[in-house]
Amino acid sequence: MTVRARFAPSPTGYLHLGGARTALFCRAWAKKHNGEFLLRIEDTDAARSREAFVSPILSALEWLDLRWDGAPVFQSARRAPHLQAANHLLENGAAYRCYCAPEELAEMRAAQVAKGENPKYDRRWRDSSAAPPAGVEPAIRFKTPLEGTIQFHDRVKGEMSVEMAALDDFVMVRADGSPTYNLACAADDAEMKITDVIRGDDHVMNTFKQLLIHQALGAPPPSFAHLPMILNAAVDDDGRPIVDADGAAKYERMSKRNGAVDVNYYREAGYLPHALLNYLARLSWSHGDAEKFSMAEFYHDFDLSSAQKSPARFDLEKLRWLNREHMRDAGYDELRAAGRSAAPGDAGNEFFWEKIRETELALTLPRASTLAELRRESEFFVSPPPGDFALLREHLGEDNRAAFDDLRAVLASLPEWNAEAIRSATRNAAKRAGLKFPRLGMPMRTLLTGSAESPDIAETAAELGREETLARLGACDNA
Ligand code: GLU
Repeated sequence: MTVRARFAPSPTGYLHLGGARTALFCRAWAKKHNGEFLLRIEDTDAARSREAFVSPILSALEWLDLRWDGAPVFQSARRAPHLQAANHLLENGAAYRCYCAPEELAEMRAAQVAKGENPKYDRRWRDSSAAPPAGVEPAIRFKTPLEGTIQFHDRVKGEMSVEMAALDDFVMVRADGSPTYNLACAADDAEMKITDVIRGDDHVMNTFKQLLIHQALGAPPPSFAHLPMILNAAVDDDGRPIVDADGAAKYERMSKRNGAVDVNYYREAGYLPHALLNYLARLSWSHGDAEKFSMAEFYHDFDLSSAQKSPARFDLEKLRWLNREHMRDAGYDELRAAGRSAAPGDAGNEFFWEKIRETELALTLPRASTLAELRRESEFFVSPPPGDFALLREHLGEDNRAAFDDLRAVLASLPEWNAEAIRSATRNAAKRAGLKFPRLGMPMRTLLTGSAESPDIAETAAELGREETLARLGACDNA
C-alpha cells in the first residue's frame, strides 16, 4: 500500500517550530516509503482561521523545502462530504441527534461541577424517542460505546488505550450545522486515503475519537504517531527565567511568551533552512550521536521508531551553533541566495548580497552565527561606515596622532599591498613612536569598519584595497 502522510496545519497563526517539525517528519516518513506527502489546510474554525495565514504557511514550508505532493486540500471546501459522513453515521446508528439548547447544556454542566463531577454530556438524547422540541436545531453526537476500551499502537509512544467512559458522546456536527474538527479530520483522512497520521501529542485524545469514527464509517484507520511537545524555558512577565526552589529552570510548552515560535522569525534572523531542520530533527529524533547532518542524510536514516517519546527542550544556543556550522559549509552562492531570501524585497539587503565578495565573507564568517549577523559584521565592506568621530576620539588622541599620520604615509607607499606588509608597517610605526600595536590598530579599525570589533585589521585593510583604506583612514582629518 502506498504510504500517504499528510500535514494538516490550521491557519490560526503562522507556521511554528512544532508544526515545521511535524511536517518534516511526515515528509521524511512518506519519502522513506516512496509515498506521498499531502497538505491539508484545516480552516474550518471560522472564528480562529484567517486566510491571511495560509500563504505565509505555504511559503514557510517552501522555504524549508518541505514540498508537498499535489494541490493543498482546503478543509472548508469539504463541508458537504463531512455532513454526508455524519448522516451516514446517523443512518447506521453510530450517531444521534441531540436537541439540547445551549442553556440546557450550561445548566447540566453547572450542576455537575457543583457536585464535584467532571462536566460531561449526560446522554439524555442518546436513546430518547421524545419529540424534538420546536425551534432547537440539533447537534449530531457520536454514540460512544458505554463500556470497554479503545486502543491503538502509536509508532512513537507504543500501546495507547483509554476507557470509553472518558470519551463522552462527542459532538460531530454543531447545532449551527458546522462539522467539528474530529469529524472533518477523520472524514478527510478516510477520503484522502491517508495511511499515516503524524502529529503533535496534544492530539492523542482526538485520535481515540477519530478511530471510533473511522470504525463506524467502515474505513480502514490510518496508523498514528504522536510527537512530543517542544518545551522552552519558562519566563516571567519581565522575561526572566523561572526557577524552582533548587534553582533548576522550569520548562513549559513553547509559546510566544517564552521565545520565538514562528518559522518566519528564524528565516528573517538569517538561519539556513536546512540548519533549522537539522536542529528540529535532532530535537526529537536521534541516530547515533550525530548532531549535525544534511537533509539527505536525515531522509535516508529517518525512522519513526527512533523518535523520542519525551518532550524536547528547545535550546537556542545549540540552534545557533548548528547554523554556524552549516553556514561554514555553505558555498558563497548558497550564502548569498539564503541571505537574499531572508528579507525578500528589502533593497538594502539585496544591495549588500549583490556587492559582498567571497573573500570578504571569508573574513567575517567566523564571527557570525546567523546570516543577519554575517551581514552586520560585513556591511562595512559594502558601505563605508558613517564617520563615528566619538568612537574615533576614544582611540585617537595626542599620544598617537602623529604616529597614526606617519603610518598613513607609510601605507601610501608600501611596495606591496597585502596583510603581512600592512601588519609589519603598523607594528613598525607603533614601535617607532613607543606605542603598543593597538594604539594604531584601533583607530585604523574604527575608521575602516566603523566599529571597535572586526576581523583582523591588517587582513581587513588588505581586502579593502589600498585606495579605499587610505580614503577611509583620511576621514580622521575631519574629526
Ligand atoms: N489542524 C491540527 C493542528 O494544527 C492538526 C490536526 C492533525 O494533524 O490531525 O493542530
